[in-house]
Amino acid sequence: MELLHECPACSHKTIKFTERIKDHFLSQEDFQIFHCFSCGHLFTNPRPSPDQITAYYKSENYISHSDSDKGLINKVYRIVRKRTLNWKAAQLNSHFGRPGKLLDIGCGSGNFLARMQTDGWECFGIEPDPDARAMASRYSGITVTEESHLSEWMDETFDAITLWHVLEHVYDLHKRLAEIKRLLKPGGILILALPNPSSADALKYGSYWAAWDVPRHVHHFKPSVVHELLHSKGFRFLYSRGMVYDAYYISMLSERYLKRSLSPLRGLLHGFMSNRQAERRKEAYSSMMYLFTKD
Ligand SMILES: [Zn+2]
Repeated sequence: MELLHECPACSHKTIKFTERIKDHFLSQEDFQIFHCFSCGHLFTNPRPSPDQITAYYKSENYISHSDSDKGLINKVYRIVRKRTLNWKAAQLNSHFGRPGKLLDIGCGSGNFLARMQTDGWECFGIEPDPDARAMASRYSGITVTEESHLSEWMDETFDAITLWHVLEHVYDLHKRLAEIKRLLKPGGILILALPNPSSADALKYGSYWAAWDVPRHVHHFKPSVVHELLHSKGFRFLYSRGMVYDAYYISMLSERYLKRSLSPLRGLLHGFMSNRQAERRKEAYSSMMYLFTKD
């Protein structure tokens, strides 16, 4: 395990234990969440070392990578993913008169890239998991490379870089954001989608909130921290949007962890309520999508 002595977002030394969260999804082990007194960032501490973390992804049920179709929650996930794909594509296309060069970091099995390829984008992917990489090339023919390949591209190669539910898994935020800034063209678009620990469903489910997803999520980004961190790295905020389907999926999964009767139905109901509450608060959806540009 790797113990952090400073905030991984702002490097401030005053950090404190705040909550214990179980890995409900896989190992059933307990992990600690710390928070930073300076920027308010929440992060898993200690966290598995980079060598140890791969063991925590080893499940046939880790659905962002698998193509199995078992269970109602997986079915909801798949329906949501299809609808979300079109929504994601619209977000990106609305900024560009014509398709350009796109890099999707943490592209999993390549669904988003395959979708954008049909819109004419020249697509590239980065994915640490070798099985997902193989699935991506089989599925879309798009070449997906390892993380180490990031440093091999020239400066200002991409019109858009996307990280859909990925930055919360990234160990070295400073290195990764610097690399993204280097690779993005001036005026290019960076899209980040992140679970929101200040959302209504996070507050409702507490330590059972499925999007803590420790230890796979090493960061838990409150919107205020996203703004501060990206601003400090030289990105300019354009706008954010709530990802309304995520509330349903996360609430269903949280209900399952609570082992309540009728958990899928309860989850759907609470997902709906989370979205209704988020309509009345700024950046309060279960997951948020943030758009930034580089000047
Ligand atoms: Zn901090």
